Amino acid sequence: MYYGFIVKLPATSLLHHKIDNKHNTRPMENLPFYQEINNEAEIFEHAWRNKLPLLLKGPTGCGKSRFVEFMAGKLNRKLVTISCHEETSSTDLIGRFIIKGAETVWVDGPMTTAVKEGAILYLDELAEARPDVIVAIHSLTDHRRELFIDKLGETIKANPNFMLVASFNPGYQKGFKELKPSTRQRFIALSFQYPEAKTETNILEKESGIDHSNAKKIVAIGNKIRNLTELGLAETVSTRLLVDASVLIHSGLAKRQSMHVAVVEPLTDDEHTTTSLKDLCDLMI
Ligand code: ADP
Repeated sequence: MYYGFIVKLPATSLLHHKIDNKHNTRPMENLPFYQEINNEAEIFEHAWRNKLPLLLKGPTGCGKSRFVEFMAGKLNRKLVTISCHEETSSTDLIGRFIIKGAETVWVDGPMTTAVKEGAILYLDELAEARPDVIVAIHSLTDHRRELFIDKLGETIKANPNFMLVASFNPGYQKGFKELKPSTRQRFIALSFQYPEAKTETNILEKESGIDHSNAKKIVAIGNKIRNLTELGLAETVSTRLLVDASVLIHSGLAKRQSMHVAVVEPLTDDEHTTTSLKDLCDLMI
């Protein structure tokens, strides 16, 4: 069974503190690097203070998860990330009875733990979740802020610091995995896009240590490929792939080969498209 969740604690955990003013946020130098694009940190903080669930919309690898990690660190909250998948059931997330010796004991799942401890619960790719998971979050996303544990017949109130964040890729498999309007409207929403060239260049430099002139070239290749809509790629080149290429180049792998394995190969299996994209990279790097 697929069980995609990760629990991340900030380096200095202050879970017992109710954080309700700016003085309790962590200094920037201790946080994961995140290049803010459009005032999203302030929006997130207001959503958290006002107990509003937040939906992050945007393509793969454009910085949504990094943003949530950054905000969890900034607000000093534990982060519980669940990668939604069609095999992840609400039981996996809420909890189950297990046999221990001669006894049956209840074990909280990651969602229940997050609700009790006042963590930030990040449901990555919510559209991939099974309907029973969507049903389970409904009462958490409105004024009730509670989780019903059917196996225990219990309803638990969310800790005041609890926040639900979900991500959704609107372009992905268009028309297949959509979020229902009734689910979408439970969240306030922020749109993410691949950053503009100057910002993305800065991200590559910071993330990989690559020099400015190479970072600029890699971003130019990325943008060139993004504009080649006629290639009909299912997904275009993400900031994540450009970072990977930069890391390889910075580590000493030949530039062309780095671009081929980090940018071209992950994008397509079509032989003709692969050849054209490799030629383009060879020309521009
Ligand atoms: P998503 O969750 O949208 O799929 P990620 O948050 O995992 O994407 O981003 C992929 C990578 O891209 C990150 O690990 C980071 O290296 C880089 N990245 C993208 N946007 C930013 C940003 N604004 N600031 C810092 N790094 C970024």
